[in-house]
Amino acid sequence: MPPAFANPVFALRADPVRIQLLPSTFDSNGHATPEQRLTCFLIDESVAVDAGSIALAVNGEQREKVRDIIVTHPHMDHIASLPIFIDDLFPTLKTPVRVHATPEVISSLERDIFNWNIYPRFSELENDFGRVMEYVPIPVGQEFEVAHLTVTAVAVNHIVPTVGLVISNGKTTVAFSSDTSETEEFWHLLNRAPSLQALLIEASFPDSMAQLAEVSRHFTPASLKRELSKLSHNELDILAVHIKPAYREIVIQELNALNIPGLGVMESGKIYEW
Ligand SMILES: [Zn+2]
Ligand SMILES: [Zn+2]
Repeated sequence: MPPAFANPVFALRADPVRIQLLPSTFDSNGHATPEQRLTCFLIDESVAVDAGSIALAVNGEQREKVRDIIVTHPHMDHIASLPIFIDDLFPTLKTPVRVHATPEVISSLERDIFNWNIYPRFSELENDFGRVMEYVPIPVGQEFEVAHLTVTAVAVNHIVPTVGLVISNGKTTVAFSSDTSETEEFWHLLNRAPSLQALLIEASFPDSMAQLAEVSRHFTPASLKRELSKLSHNELDILAVHIKPAYREIVIQELNALNIPGLGVMESGKIYEW
């Protein structure tokens, strides 16, 4: 037996992290379409960051494995199919789906979504095996564990309380901006991380819509460039996400014109490894 396999902890720590932006929509042949309407990232097939497309786009194996979902904020594009995901699994869940979110986001989910009106309050329901959903409050600014990952969440600058995330599997560290405009603490957190392999960052609107981007607290390529000057790491992959489908082509052109080393657009459905 090779020595690496003699120590399971070592083998686990040496694993790269695998991240997939789940597709939002599929063409008539069942292939993922590139437009991103909803936000859901799967990490190592078992932890989700946001749950926009989760119930629509996971395969059978992923549906059986994902039991931890970090919700960065309660906007519909980030939670749209969370209720359906839990509903699908309701009869068979042997352990609850854990929803990791700040207390403000948990309150909003309970008040506005799982309120017995829009959908059942799954946090109060049980199947034959026990509870089907539980909330795990996120301690903002402190490290916490989610499955095999270490996570730190800090507030970013969006229209509702929202967190950006730095996530590590012991070998690889990756950051998620979630939805934000000009912000500070997130960059301090990234700059404190000893190494950073990838940053998944939003670029919602084209430069011509800077005013709408500002009032709705999102980036354009130009404001993204200004923010990236706060990042002290280099040699990392920077993948733009959350591009509004109606402006996708122009936003991609403007991002390419920035000529920022390592900057690209994240492809939905593709599994990235770092
Ligand atoms: Zn949002
Ligand atoms: Zn969004």
